[in-house]
Amino acid sequence: MGLRPNLLTRRTAGVASTTLALLLSTAAVGVVPAASAFSAAPTEACAEPADVHSDARVKAGAHAKHEPNELTAKETREREADLAAALRERANFRAGAGAAALAAVTIPVVVHVIQEDGTRAGGNIPDSMINSQISVLNEAYSGGTGGAATAFSFQLQKINRVTNPAWFPIVQGSSAERSMKTSLREGGKNTLNIYLGELSDDLLGWATFPKRRLDSMDGVVVLTESLPGGTATNYNQGDTGTHEVGHWLNLYHTFQGGCRASGDGVSDTPAEAEPAYQCPTGRDTCTATGLDPITNFMDYTYDTCMYQFTAGQAERMLTAWNAYRAA
Ligand SMILES: [Zn+2]
Repeated sequence: MGLRPNLLTRRTAGVASTTLALLLSTAAVGVVPAASAFSAAPTEACAEPADVHSDARVKAGAHAKHEPNELTAKETREREADLAAALRERANFRAGAGAAALAAVTIPVVVHVIQEDGTRAGGNIPDSMINSQISVLNEAYSGGTGGAATAFSFQLQKINRVTNPAWFPIVQGSSAERSMKTSLREGGKNTLNIYLGELSDDLLGWATFPKRRLDSMDGVVVLTESLPGGTATNYNQGDTGTHEVGHWLNLYHTFQGGCRASGDGVSDTPAEAEPAYQCPTGRDTCTATGLDPITNFMDYTYDTCMYQFTAGQAERMLTAWNAYRAA
């Protein structure tokens, strides 16, 4: 999990121009950039059901830009109502605090490597980075990095390499993203599909929340170079993958709802007014008990700073699994 200092400098020099070039090339081929698709502010614009909403993790420094997919209060209310309805539909649901101890869930994983060409800059990373990412997921979700153990482990089924410049970068919310996922998604509702590529708008990743009726958009999109050993400085230990899979398992951000009581729907993550970036010390943005949970995987801090889920998050994920993704 250590940083690779020899890889840290290349990205710093290249990231701004690379991103600009990607945005320009996107515009040139007529694909709607994600920024314009979501620029109508999420506060009132999101009439669509919350279960089709996705999430985006952003890098520090990119947050002045509009963050497209943090949920509104209305969307979280809709999602919570949907979860309750899904649970009522599931006869095999076991409620209560003991639920986490009852289940061990192995999630099959299909990784799609979207490449522009055969070069590393074109997305061609070695299999070893993907295997390391799976290890990072297993460490994080077993509590091996210092947090609560969850029910989940991950088993790589397949690496699917796809060279298609029309899907590189992956532009959030675009028709190209839809056609990519429609073409490539594999497995049932319990199968985690991870799409790796260069991403639009300097994003690190985004994910879909679970929904009652599986559709082809279901899955997680992650910046290729955020995998362990990648070139995304401060975000190259694989925790973007951990974060996005958290959403796929129905976790909100720790700052969801700000200081309001409902917050992220988990009682043991102290309320937090806004995202934390980098690795602030002793931050406390709400009057409620507890410092901001900046070390939680569901915040926006550096990979070196985030290392835990809570017991409440583990329980919330398992509840959602039983509601949405269990066989
Ligand atoms: Zn997120």
